Amino acid sequence: MATEKPSNAEEEYFVRQELELRKEWARENAARTAQDEKDRIKALHHMKCPKCGMDLHTTELHGVTVDSCPTCHGMWFDAGEVDHMLEHEQTGLFKRVSTFFRK
Ligand SMILES: [Zn+2]
Repeated sequence: MATEKPSNAEEEYFVRQELELRKEWARENAARTAQDEKDRIKALHHMKCPKCGMDLHTTELHGVTVDSCPTCHGMWFDAGEVDHMLEHEQTGLFKRVSTFFRK
């Protein structure tokens, strides 16, 4: 069986295709690695206190779900929860909370 040596143009075409495939693979791999890293970090830090790293406990304050740390007594609000809390500005509870946040 005679093997025909591919012409330079053909060879170049395959080399280029191979390169494109590798670039594509590298892009996909980088995206996957970034997502894996996000998942890993999330798993490590989910419901952990950002200050002291202890487990957070979910409590309800005035109909607002608040994650609080029993160790350093920090309180963490989700997006929109502070706004909801501000609606209760006149209540004693809010005054206590706002005092807590003021340095
Ligand atoms: Zn804490």
